[in-house]
Amino acid sequence: MKFIPLLSASLLLLACTDSRSQEPRDNSIAILQYHHVSDATPAVTSVTPQQFESHLDYLADNEFQVFSITEAHQRIEQGQDFPEKAVVITFDDGYHNVYHNAAELLEQRGMPYAVFVNPDLMASTPSAYMSWEQLRDLQQRGATIVNHGQTHDHLIRRRSGESQADWRQRMKYDVVSAQQAIDDNLGEQPKYFAYPFGEYDPDLQQLLKQWGFLGFAQHSGPWSPYSEKTAITRFPASGRYARLETLATKLNSRALPVIDYQPQDPLLKHQQTKPTLRVTLEQSKSFQRQALQCFSGGDVLKPEWQSETEFSVTPTSDLPIGRSRINCTAPATEGSPYYWFSAAFIRPDSSGSWPD
Ligand SMILES: [Zn+2]
Repeated sequence: MKFIPLLSASLLLLACTDSRSQEPRDNSIAILQYHHVSDATPAVTSVTPQQFESHLDYLADNEFQVFSITEAHQRIEQGQDFPEKAVVITFDDGYHNVYHNAAELLEQRGMPYAVFVNPDLMASTPSAYMSWEQLRDLQQRGATIVNHGQTHDHLIRRRSGESQADWRQRMKYDVVSAQQAIDDNLGEQPKYFAYPFGEYDPDLQQLLKQWGFLGFAQHSGPWSPYSEKTAITRFPASGRYARLETLATKLNSRALPVIDYQPQDPLLKHQQTKPTLRVTLEQSKSFQRQALQCFSGGDVLKPEWQSETEFSVTPTSDLPIGRSRINCTAPATEGSPYYWFSAAFIRPDSSGSWPD
């Protein structure tokens, strides 16, 4: 086992002593990730206010319980189950349009949410980002305001001539001083960090761990005790991901009980066009193992099982330059939910860069 999942010691103990707990528990919660709520912003990172309202209506009509990010965190830490229909709502970047087009719709329905903000960008581009005053207002109305870094930079991309010590100093500025700015303006807030562009690597994960942060990514999959604390997955809900039909499957998904996977580092070499993903699962009868499928771009990939609990899968087409992911899903043994796992990849171009 390469990493210890969030599963708390007490739950592990319970799993060993209580025969009813032989099966992994279904304590998964989907986190939705939004950016803009506007019909005047780039479509790829936007939902229109009408789309956003239809998402919230779907949640309300289907009796989803919307958890604040801190309450969800607490439940996961304590190994507590979620109701069958549970969700966390998050926004990245803290755009004005969230203040004007989303906050009221959420409040009308009594739905809490979190906004990940970039203090440096708020100062340099007040025309795009909410002010501290607006954030304080949302906070008083029930929002959680958390950390998206000072600069919204590609944090894991080393600069030319940058030593490891220089890089660490840069990360400290981007993560720790952003938290300081948030705490100074809004009172002490939970140490939750959403990676800009969802990009992380083991070095950055190690720093977050050292500084006591949870790290939120943006490759898909529900949050559960199996999640890595510094690579918590969220479901993007903007642009092409805004369609309710596909979103519904994700909202109802459960976490595959993954206890190890390789590669741990999403950042590939330029030449690594078809990386093999190796996954180790906990024994479980909750999902149909033989029906497990993986997806890369538009390709359906058939996993090769090395044992009852280990499989590997290799893309059939070259991964594109930039961010991509391999998703693996399996239908539940009973009922309709899909069990889900996603691995993030970043393939740089020949100069070591990649697009936003
Ligand atoms: Zn962002």
